[in-house]
Amino acid sequence: MSGILCAIKLKEAGHKHITVFEKADRIGGTWRDNRYPGLTCDVPAHAYTYEFAPNPEWSAYLVGGAEIQAYFEKVVDDHGIRPLIRFNSEIEKMAWNGDHWDIETKDGFKDQAHVAIMATGVLHHPKFPDIKGLENFAGKAMHTAQWDVDFPLEGKRIGIIGNGSTGIQMVTHLGKKGQDIVHFQRSPQWMMPYPNFEYSEEDKAKFRASLEAIDAIRYDENYWSAIRRFTTGITDIDGPEMREIEDICRNFLETAVVDETLRRKLTPTYRAACKRLIYSYDYYGVAQQPNVETIVCGIREIVADGVIDNDGTLHKVDVLALATGFQSDRFVRPISVKGVGGRDIEDAWAERCAAYMAISIPDFPNFFLFNGPSSPVGNFSLIDVAEKQWGYIEQLLNRVASSNASGIVASKAAFDDYEERRITKAKASIFGSGCTSWYLDKTGVPITWPWDYDAFADAMAQPDFDAFDMV
Ligand code: NAP
Repeated sequence: MSGILCAIKLKEAGHKHITVFEKADRIGGTWRDNRYPGLTCDVPAHAYTYEFAPNPEWSAYLVGGAEIQAYFEKVVDDHGIRPLIRFNSEIEKMAWNGDHWDIETKDGFKDQAHVAIMATGVLHHPKFPDIKGLENFAGKAMHTAQWDVDFPLEGKRIGIIGNGSTGIQMVTHLGKKGQDIVHFQRSPQWMMPYPNFEYSEEDKAKFRASLEAIDAIRYDENYWSAIRRFTTGITDIDGPEMREIEDICRNFLETAVVDETLRRKLTPTYRAACKRLIYSYDYYGVAQQPNVETIVCGIREIVADGVIDNDGTLHKVDVLALATGFQSDRFVRPISVKGVGGRDIEDAWAERCAAYMAISIPDFPNFFLFNGPSSPVGNFSLIDVAEKQWGYIEQLLNRVASSNASGIVASKAAFDDYEERRITKAKASIFGSGCTSWYLDKTGVPITWPWDYDAFADAMAQPDFDAFDMV
């Protein structure tokens, strides 16, 4: 998503030498890799859309992954950037060489670039659970990000491990279809009710005829006030916004789950929004269906024909879906990146992954990250985030172009000051309020943008050039 955005923007700005390195044979990132049943984007489709490429054809308020993938394919072709993409080309090494980056791909292709923009995503490397006996399972086990869409599920009993956004979407989708499901939840999740609805042909005709009709959804007051409530709430954890979020989630649980035993099972022991809030309208209903069994006592072991829980009960299943998330500390890894004086990014990131404003790392000039460490992970459109980050990166590039310098990089002093402020705020945010989640780095500090949405928009609107060194 961000690589496509960047290539289009660079092309539009008149740059002639652009290469997009793509390790796969298709574009799409998250939406190419994730094809599990029920995959949906929980951000309204008209908001999860590039500002320059509105899409009147979205079929619903929230759409599925395949539709989003098709959107990106169309945008790539509409903007003529496919010829700029070098497919099957995984970068292995990058080294700063005074005024440019030397780049080498896994298949030995070598290139040079004055600027490296890293659009490598956040949640990209699947995390497999460390559960005893997983290798002994005789049925089909698949991580949700490596789903075999050709594998027939009809008539099969499916064990789903994990109840993040992915596990919940999968249980909801397959449960509604009547599939036999055992859902293993290690920690219950708070749910934010979020109904979906389809657009009629009449709606779409309205969108085709008028950009204002699309913007009315993209910039809808309710949607934006929910975003602001959320981003204010996560930073002011005892304020009225967070109380409102907690009340909504608690009321939803109490009114939607009638069975007391199940309600107890589904009640989290940590505060709402500590883990990534789940947006779902239908999950609680599905969890109460007879074809869905919810196990919360934990997994003891996986055996050939199923899963033994911590109470010693064997749950026989034919398929195991590992909805166990991603390694969230990868960013540009496993690329070997060597900056000024051969400094290794592994050295810069030895304690934790970090970047000034989530974009620039001292000693790594002209090396800019989309969705880098401390990028916003508020539950809103990452396209909006990437567009704002592009606005910032573009200004850095323009500064270099209008100077005699070869590059630009965040100063060590600015980086240290940013990190100190960020870490203090992040620890005090709701994400640091006492739960496990992919938001936490290995030292337990949330890797999130710890200020509110407006602070992010303001920070991205205009770089503080005093925070940068020209090289
Ligand atoms: P996740 O939120 O990291 O959830 C992983 C789940 O697996 C958790 O329930 C975790 O339990 C469980 N788990 C991990 N290791 C386990 C083990 N060894 N034994 C038992 N359970 C284990 O991953 P995700 O659901 O794939 O979602 C990741 C992120 O992707 C989301 O937070 C969201 O940002 C994004 N996403 C977005 C959408 C969307 O619609 N926009 C859809 C899907 C995903 P614990 O909680 O106990 O650790």
